[in-house]
Amino acid sequence: MAQRQFQTEVSQLLHLIIHSLYSNREIFLRELVSNASDALDKLKYLTVADDSYKSLSFDPRIDLSFNKDAKTLTIADNGIGMNETDLIESLGTIARSGTRTFLEKLSDDAKKNSNLIGQFGVGFYSAFMVAERIEVISRKAGEGTAWKWLSDGKDGFDILPASRETQGTTVILHLSEDGAEYANRWSIEDIVRRYSNHVAFPIYLTYDENEYDDKGKVKSSKTKTDKINSGSAIWQRPKSELKKEDYDEFYKQLAHDNDEPLFYLHTHAEGTLEYSTLFYVPKKAPFDLYNVDCKPGIKLYVKRVFITDDDKELMPSWLRFVRGVIDSEDLPLNVSREILQQNKILLNIKNASVNKLLAEFKNVAENNKEMWDTFISEFNRPLKEGLYHDWGNRDPLLELVRFKSSTKEGRVSFADYVSRMKSDQKSIYYISGGDEKTLRASPLLEAYTAQEIEVLIMDDEIDDIVLPHIDKYKKWDVKAVNRAGADEELGKKKDKKAEKEIQPLIDRIKKVLGDRVKDVKLSRRLLDSPSCIVADENDPTIQMAQMLKAMGQIEVPDIKPILEINGDHPIVARIRDIEDEARVADIAGVLLDQALLVEGIKLKDPADFVKRLNRLLTL
Ligand code: ADP
Repeated sequence: MAQRQFQTEVSQLLHLIIHSLYSNREIFLRELVSNASDALDKLKYLTVADDSYKSLSFDPRIDLSFNKDAKTLTIADNGIGMNETDLIESLGTIARSGTRTFLEKLSDDAKKNSNLIGQFGVGFYSAFMVAERIEVISRKAGEGTAWKWLSDGKDGFDILPASRETQGTTVILHLSEDGAEYANRWSIEDIVRRYSNHVAFPIYLTYDENEYDDKGKVKSSKTKTDKINSGSAIWQRPKSELKKEDYDEFYKQLAHDNDEPLFYLHTHAEGTLEYSTLFYVPKKAPFDLYNVDCKPGIKLYVKRVFITDDDKELMPSWLRFVRGVIDSEDLPLNVSREILQQNKILLNIKNASVNKLLAEFKNVAENNKEMWDTFISEFNRPLKEGLYHDWGNRDPLLELVRFKSSTKEGRVSFADYVSRMKSDQKSIYYISGGDEKTLRASPLLEAYTAQEIEVLIMDDEIDDIVLPHIDKYKKWDVKAVNRAGADEELGKKKDKKAEKEIQPLIDRIKKVLGDRVKDVKLSRRLLDSPSCIVADENDPTIQMAQMLKAMGQIEVPDIKPILEINGDHPIVARIRDIEDEARVADIAGVLLDQALLVEGIKLKDPADFVKRLNRLLTL
């Protein structure tokens, strides 16, 4: 029976940790290494800040060792250490305020609790998930005596005088039956690399390397000590100390990429919030970029301790191609995912990071053509996604996205377009809903081409989803040329007299086409072609409706086009003289179907089209 009892809250928390976090129990090592690292941080600070510690020779390190047969795992540091009072207070009570209310919130649901416990910070006590008994031998820096803390994690602990040569703390875990797997070189190395690789102090592992004879018996054994973490958080180091090679090497390890990154962005923020970020843009889009389960590329650290790399909230989804690290000095360790998502500190870091990345993209666009070309050919599409999802960053994103153009080679920006606009032009025009070739050949472009008005060619599938959400770039309207109202600016002014004259014919065509069209109108945008189709102001285009249907959205309404007729075209002129209603119906049907075909739209009834065409050809 232990001589000293745990505070009630400690017993409750112990019970909860063991039951809620068991499936993730390897984190105990991260917790103990973090404590060791904190203890080193504290002493390091004192040796710098406090005269009475200045004479101390201090070579900070964390030492791990194990004994398979005795089933022990030892974590030792030469940090600040604890005296008797510290041990009682730190490892027997929970000093944090609000503990009781926190514990009251916990239920019997292990899953829910594991999230809440994350928020609280499990710390030292998590070691009882793998140990049936723990010894802590510690000597406080500047003091002569050492103390031993002993507990089985059930009801309490004992404290005894002990000896330790130098300041620091040694934690000896007597592993339980199912914790015994951690007395193993490979699992220790693996866990340390995964969670504590960038702890800023060296972590050493001592182990025995055996040599075997022919019969497989141990011939000799040598004790070895290896440093098992990289020991320097590259993102914490001043930029002036780092070379491109350092950045490249870290990127390759981080992103599992054999290639160098396209560029990187390294920042340290100080002030209200203190954090460092190191972001990389790969040369190639990650292979899973367009998969629903695309793996996020950002690792979150708190004070150089790895927290998670599996949180999609660390970056907006359109920036999921960015790889890198966020390391905050202000977040609590062990912050849970649930908490991360509403955390104000993290939100601030995220927003600032997005702004910095956007500024860097702009910088590349303006100053490094080759790099920009690679960037935009890989990431134009995610940027467009940003236009759709990230309303707050619309303006900088509008400057970055690029499109093909009816008058220029390569990719152009909205700003390029505007710089070439005609002096009286009020809108930016684009055509979308098909492949590049179809779009470039569309009759809808005829009048624009004739009047040398540039039209952006939107042949990317995502354009049709994104563009309808962008009604303006700066002061200019952004208009699709296949919209009913997009022809207002075209030079061909409305000719009232001609319109009146042709109205009876339009009415006839409308009648024979019936419910295949929403309306029939005299066109102002056609020169060489007899007809074209456009979508009504607020309707989706037919191409878009077809795409939605292909994506499995069954509830897509049947969209009817508006048919526009070129009053100056000889075919149209000919119909006026035809009395036979059936023939007018054939010609009108062909005018509609060919307008659909030329836009790359699949006809609903191709046989009907062929029959009409053959009847007309036979005449
Ligand atoms: P936390 O680290 O979140 O405070 P822990 O339960 O892990 O919670 O640790 C409680 C306290 O015990 C720490 O705040 C620290 O003061 C002390 N402690 C734990 N490990 C060490 C260590 N290796 N050296 C010095 N102090 C330690």
